[in-house]
Amino acid sequence: MHEMSVALAVVDQVEQAARSRGAVGVESVSLDVGELAGVVPDALAFCFELACAGTVLEGAELFTRSVPGTARCGTCADVWDVGMPPQLICPACGNAAADLVSGRELRISEVRWADVEAEADAAHVRIREPIPQES
Ligand SMILES: [Zn+2]
Repeated sequence: MHEMSVALAVVDQVEQAARSRGAVGVESVSLDVGELAGVVPDALAFCFELACAGTVLEGAELFTRSVPGTARCGTCADVWDVGMPPQLICPACGNAAADLVSGRELRISEVRWADVEAEADAAHVRIREPIPQES
């Protein structure tokens, strides 16, 4: 499944980043997903949850932002939204020599690391449980 390999690659990259900065957890990951990248956001969200299990990303939320596909005509430089299925014939001059400008991206745009302060506070609260009185 395409989405699973994408999810695993994302988790792998974030894990490496987490290791190098000593992060204790990940709150959320934001992804730019091109409309022509062939990824179904719902399927990706499902695979992401599976891929996160047992890693530093466990419980992290995934936000995906869809990037529309656009193309530029090689002849008249007109730029248009290619849509789905992609329309690669220039609507202005009818030439088929189009270059895709965007729409194939699949990249991590933001990672929100779990708040270290919040973790410390939570641990602190847990320590302050009532101590049984000696009788
Ligand atoms: Zn054109």
